[in-house]
Amino acid sequence: MQENFSLKSYNTFGVDVKAKYFTEAETIEELKNAVNYSKDHGLSVLFLGGGSNILFTKDFNGLAIKLSLKGISEEHLNENEVLVTAKAGENWHEFVMYSLEHNYGGLENLSLIPGNVGTSPMQNIGAYGTEIKDVFVSCMVLDLENLELRIFDLGECRFGYRDSIFKQEGKGRYVILEVTFKLTKKDHHIKTEYGAIKTELENLGITHPTIQDISKAVINIRQSKLPDPKVTGNAGSFFKNPTIPLTQFEGLKQNFENIPGYPNGDSVKVPAGWLIEQCGWKGKQIGNVASHQLQALVIVNATGNATGKEIYDFSTEIISSVKEKFGIDLEREVNII
Ligand SMILES: Cc1cc2nc3c(=O)[nH]c(=O)nc-3n(C[C@H](O)[C@H](O)[C@H](O)COP(=O)(O)OP(=O)(O)OC[C@H]3O[C@@H](n4cnc5c(N)ncnc54)[C@H](O)[C@@H]3O)c2cc1C
Repeated sequence: MQENFSLKSYNTFGVDVKAKYFTEAETIEELKNAVNYSKDHGLSVLFLGGGSNILFTKDFNGLAIKLSLKGISEEHLNENEVLVTAKAGENWHEFVMYSLEHNYGGLENLSLIPGNVGTSPMQNIGAYGTEIKDVFVSCMVLDLENLELRIFDLGECRFGYRDSIFKQEGKGRYVILEVTFKLTKKDHHIKTEYGAIKTELENLGITHPTIQDISKAVINIRQSKLPDPKVTGNAGSFFKNPTIPLTQFEGLKQNFENIPGYPNGDSVKVPAGWLIEQCGWKGKQIGNVASHQLQALVIVNATGNATGKEIYDFSTEIISSVKEKFGIDLEREVNII
């Protein structure tokens, strides 16, 4: 247990805040001990994965527990399917690389997403036409109400767009300890439709892509347009893409004929990055904080000295201008502490 512990290197925004207490849990026993300690001392707890989807706006006056449970195991179901289980503290991208080294398909479009495996169900991480719900089987959690272990299957997780039960009523109650995915061993489902994957494969001269090729293309695209948190502090997309009623979208089309939208029944998903860019935020810097010059949806700690409050206030300004211009409410994707 460490006191007044700096969390600067534990959040990808690089915000310099302190946790009153900090500890690391490598086993379920250590985790239970830490949780019991917090209960005995009346401390609130905060669980930390890779810190890539979190914004600290102030010091954390409780016990921060870094989840460092490690290990990967496999259960072969048949000639084509394998269940792969990874513990919460495994780095997500390294886990994806593990799957590709074994030629297991299903995770390749999710290459290079920062963070840990244990956090992946929290917001049903997704990119390039895939979400973890597509290959998710179950996860084991610790229920903080009774310190018992429990399994959540796919239906119980109630996955949605950047959403799950763990971000809703289960928030603060369940700690995800390990996640099981069902991956393919030979009949891989290659997904090239989304984003610039096809163009990137053409650039690489690949006509019959393998799952490893898809991963390579995704990595190239991500590296070309997203800031590396090791160089410039950020948490990826700061806002979710809003979903609005079709009637509202049609109304907006009258004034903004180029507004992009992805219809789904009687609602339409609108890219938040486009809305923010139209309000003039792309590349704009105020003090230590900026909207990224290549992707307006990403807010960056431009000087490395931004406080969480500055970043939060910057995001509030963006929300106000999008509301004023389009009448659309943006919702933050990043967890605010
Ligand atoms: C450059 C960049 C690109 C990104 N691209 C994408 C993308 O393409 N798609 C996408 O979906 N996301 C993306 N993200 C967001 C982020 O990588 C994911 O949300 C990731 O899953 C966060 O994992 P983490 O371990 O870093 O979470 P943390 O930031 O450590 O934690 C996030 C929240 O989950 C809680 N938590 C952490 N671990 C657990 C656990 N085991 N059990 C219960 N609660 C827990 C924390 O208390 C916190 O509230 C990106 C981020 C960056 C910086």
